[in-house]
Parts: sequence; C-alpha cells; structure tokens
Amino acid sequence: MNSQTSKPRTSEKEEMARLDSEIRACERCPLADTRNNAVPGEGPLDAEIMLIGEGPGHHEDDQGLPFVGASGKFLAKLLEGIGLKRSDVYITNVIKCRAPGNRDPQSIEIEACSHYLDRQIKLINPSVVVTLGRFSMARWFTGARISDIHGQPKRDGKRLVVPMFHPAAALHQAKYRPVLMEDFKKLPELLSQSKLSDHATDSETKQPPEQLSLF
Ligand code: URA
Repeated sequence: MNSQTSKPRTSEKEEMARLDSEIRACERCPLADTRNNAVPGEGPLDAEIMLIGEGPGHHEDDQGLPFVGASGKFLAKLLEGIGLKRSDVYITNVIKCRAPGNRDPQSIEIEACSHYLDRQIKLINPSVVVTLGRFSMARWFTGARISDIHGQPKRDGKRLVVPMFHPAAALHQAKYRPVLMEDFKKLPELLSQSKLSDHATDSETKQPPEQLSLF
C-alpha cells in the first residue's frame, strides 16, 4: 500500500474514474480513428509500483485493458517471481490507443497522451515507476540506451524510476529473459529504499510536535 495514503479517498477514485472516461473518449490524435478501445490503465489507486509500457496491442485494443496479451502473461510471471500479483501494481502505457500494425508510437501521439500519464502518476503517486521499453524510458532518461542503463534507478522527487526492457523484447529474444528477471528481482529492495528515503525526507521537513504546539 502506498506510503502517502493508507486508503484511496473517494475524491481520488472519482478523479481516476473521470480521467479514465476522458481517455476512453479522447480524440486528441488520429489514433482515435483506428482504435477499437482506448486503454487508460489498470490497478489499485494506492499501488506502490507503477509499470509503464509502450502502447496497447491487438488484445489490449480489443479488451480496453493493458498487457492482456502474450507480453502481459510474461509480465504476470515476472511479478509472480518477486511475490507480487498483477493486481498489486498499477499498469499503464505511454500511449493509450493502439498504433496501427503495432508500429512505434509517433511523437505527436506521445505528446497528445502525455498529460494523461502526468495525471495518472500524480494520482497513483507510486514510490517506484518501472519503465518498460524505450518509449517510456525516454520520458525520464533522454537520449539513453536501454541496454546501457536497464535496472539502474534514478530518483525523481520522492520516487525511483527504474528503466527495464519491454517484456515483448524478452519474448522475441531469449537473451533478454534472464536480464529482465534479474532487474525485476531488484524491485523489492528498491521499493524499500524509496519508501525509507521518502520517510526520511518527510521527517526532515516536518516540525516536531512540540514546536507545532507553540503556534
Ligand atoms: N505492450 C505494451 O507496451 N502495452 C500493452 O498494454 C501491451 C503490450
């Protein structure tokens, strides 16, 4: 459960429901014309870990849910390997609509969706963000190569951002499977670190109760 809030407030649930509806009705870019369903994201509002993929594929477009195809099955296995269920994490994508033929997202599409991702990150407020693949990595690690930096976290305010290969890469090329599994194994420790430093920052900035009572 998220260290910031013990229980999602009704207003946050309403805000996420509003955001999901906005995404489902979005017409900000031409992908709206070819999609069957926009795919906002899925998971608990108080998730401590948020996973960000590239964009919906055929099955996701069909069902309106993220990572429900072959990559999603592999992702569930990776999570299981570190004692987590899919329902423990929040899962979304950089672009919320399928690009025809699963081509790479274009910058106009990434730009059109970026404020949705901003709002999702703000609402979920995860301690750890995992970027899956180069398009979500590019949001935090400009110009970096995934093969150089995968598994190496970077601090972004209160959270850690960890770049990882996309599960589809590991499905297409067996050599990436153990790499991705090793990177996933780092997550429990990174989560503890992120939460610890968050608490430390909080207690540094909070006034002690005695001082507060003076005012
Ligand atoms: N690949 C992605 O990047 N996202 C999905 O939701 C499914 C496959």
